[in-house]
Amino acid sequence: MTKNTLGQCELCLREKVKRTVHHLLPKQKGGTNEQTALLCIPCHKQIHAQYSNTELAARLTSIKELQEDEAIRRFLKWIRKQPGQTIPRTRRSNEKL
Ligand SMILES: [Zn+2]
Ligand SMILES: [Zn+2]
Repeated sequence: MTKNTLGQCELCLREKVKRTVHHLLPKQKGGTNEQTALLCIPCHKQIHAQYSNTELAARLTSIKELQEDEAIRRFLKWIRKQPGQTIPRTRRSNEKL
């Protein structure tokens, strides 16, 4: 465990959640290690369940763009009501995290 593990998710803004590193611009698409965001596990899973790396690279390369996306917005509205410790089920997809 790193000291960064617990904190605020940059997408849903819930606090004291376990976070993982998301590459805003996937490395295969020319992203660098600086273009990352710390997201809670449900947010991170949701993004990858909803979108392929190609779609993410094409139009969702910032937290702001993600927050304004219609499908993500609906998810955020829901996740914000969930306690930080809950890891809800995510819709299945063949995309890897
Ligand atoms: Zn989150
Ligand atoms: Zn990711």
